[in-house]
Amino acid sequence: MVYTSRNEQLVKPLFDRYTEETGVKITYLTDKAPPLMERLRAEGDRTQADVFITVDAGNLWQAANLGLLQPTESAELQANIPSHLRDPDNRWYGLSVRARTIVHNPQVTPAMSLSTYEDLADPKWRGKLCLRSSKSEYNQSLVATMIATLGAERTEGVVRGWVANLAAPPFANDVAVIEAIAAGRCAIGVVNTYYLGRQKRDNPELPVQPFWPNQDGRGVHVNVSGAGVTAHSDNVEGARAFIEWLSSDKAQALYANENMEYPANPKIDAASLVEGWGDFKADVINVSEAGRLQAEAVKLMDRAGYR
Ligand code: FE
Repeated sequence: MVYTSRNEQLVKPLFDRYTEETGVKITYLTDKAPPLMERLRAEGDRTQADVFITVDAGNLWQAANLGLLQPTESAELQANIPSHLRDPDNRWYGLSVRARTIVHNPQVTPAMSLSTYEDLADPKWRGKLCLRSSKSEYNQSLVATMIATLGAERTEGVVRGWVANLAAPPFANDVAVIEAIAAGRCAIGVVNTYYLGRQKRDNPELPVQPFWPNQDGRGVHVNVSGAGVTAHSDNVEGARAFIEWLSSDKAQALYANENMEYPANPKIDAASLVEGWGDFKADVINVSEAGRLQAEAVKLMDRAGYR
């Protein structure tokens, strides 16, 4: 049995394919990550869950830290998933990569005027920046990895600069940020590229493009969706085989095409629309750092007035 915070229309085709190939039936329960973790905790050794699948390294880190996951030693997973996209203690493995990058309308804001996440704090962008709320785990993870590389003091200065440059109060989601740029309400924003991919799949004329920041430095901030074997699974072998399959070429291609994310397995291409945005250098800091520093990031954003 799988507990997953990924939405059903995304994971069901994968589960069905696994059943077709192996004859193993997958039962699952979907909910948001925090209630699923609470459920795993409350159920303890009575849980039916063998695998936990969720998004964001912060959630995965927390699940591991709460003792809800157990280490999985697997040569196949070690080969398929790069080391910075998995838990150093093997309690979870990234299965897709989510790039959180700058987006702009190239007609209004040329790519040559853009450079880094830090540069978005420069006063030249006053009244031009749109961000999603700091309550988003995605922004918490972005800021957490900035703390890890730039230090807390410098990061806080950057976040204060972002807040000073906002064109509008923080938005509830990434889609709203993309729409506000398309509408000319803001010049630049920061979003996960799969939202842009899904919007452009429906509307190829949408005048918003990704820009890859920090290419001369640490690279684009990436996060993961991932999976781990639950601490109290009574089908550890089956759970491991399923996660191994999810990391395989076929499943990775299926997953990436469906959701417009990047495959975690570097041998596999993203969807053609996504490939069309070109290659970029990604930040290879271990994504578990985002989890470790998430609470500090939340406090820092609060101090900096980022709501
Ligand atoms: Fe998302």
